[in-house]
Amino acid sequence: SGEEAAAKAAAHLADTEPPTIFDKIVSKEIPANIIYEDDEALAFRDIQPQAPVHFLVIPKKRNGLTRLSKASPEHKALLGHLMWVAQHVAMKENLGDGFRVVVNDGPNGCQSVYHLHLHIMGGRQLTWPPG
Ligand code: C5P
Repeated sequence: SGEEAAAKAAAHLADTEPPTIFDKIVSKEIPANIIYEDDEALAFRDIQPQAPVHFLVIPKKRNGLTRLSKASPEHKALLGHLMWVAQHVAMKENLGDGFRVVVNDGPNGCQSVYHLHLHIMGGRQLTWPPG
């Protein structure tokens, strides 16, 4: 059931931080336009897209990764997997001409949701530097 899924999703967080909106997307408590899912990762379209294609890739289990700067050696394989998912879904989204991967970390990085996520943006000519 949905409640069981939510409880399961919340269980691994009990010892760390409160659940974020992304935990509720993982547990399907709140809807999202999910475009990729596997055992470890989820990709869904950003509700405030900054480009014609803008999706997020998140670990299903936050596992201490509220932000990239919390990474420790045991997260290396997961971090690599998230990068793999980013390009895999980008190719499915026809971003062969190029795209951008962004991780906002902390206040100076304008991070708003403290559950690690990769932004993937493309579908137009992007400019550099970002704001
Ligand atoms: O990197 P930052 O934490 O600022 O990005 C959070 C992103 O999550 C925003 O781009 C926001 O639009 C997106 N979001 C979403 N669905 C939600 C809540 C936030 O796509 N329900």
